Amino acid sequence: MKLEFITNSEEETIMRAKEFAMQLSLPTVLSLDGDLGAGKTTFTKGLGLGVGVQDMITSPTFTILNDYDGKLYHFDMYRLSSLVEAQELGFHEYFETKKPCLVVCEWASNVPGILPKNTLYVYIKKLSETQRHFFITSEEL
Ligand code: ADP
Ligand code: MG
Repeated sequence: MKLEFITNSEEETIMRAKEFAMQLSLPTVLSLDGDLGAGKTTFTKGLGLGVGVQDMITSPTFTILNDYDGKLYHFDMYRLSSLVEAQELGFHEYFETKKPCLVVCEWASNVPGILPKNTLYVYIKKLSETQRHFFITSEEL
């Protein structure tokens, strides 16, 4: 898969993410890549809407994992440093799940080997204060 688009507002990012999530066959693992303020959390809010999450979505930086009703698992691996550590915490299992959920992971590069083969990679770039470029691909860049 290769999908590329630009959004011009936070609302548009949420809308695009919602539409994107709605056409995925679950389970799907998504890796999010982008600088601070690029829009990873905003994009995840839209993903949540697309898979029927009602709760407010916040950044999981301090918790590593936020579980939204078993429908969306939002990881931030910033504080992890190896696959062994992730395995000790039981996190690897989420990436092999057969349940119809969306697994979204930020900072997966901190845990080499955790992402499965069929992961979709979302690359977000800030073009201006209000414009964001999205590139979604099944191959890691
Ligand atoms: P990250 O999780 O990558 O650090 P956030 O989603 O928390 O980023 O923050 C993105 C910030 O950029 C928000 O303050 C949001 O209002 C702002 N923003 C401006 N334009 C856009 C856009 N087109 N898409 C997403 N966010 C945008
Ligand atoms: Mg964030």
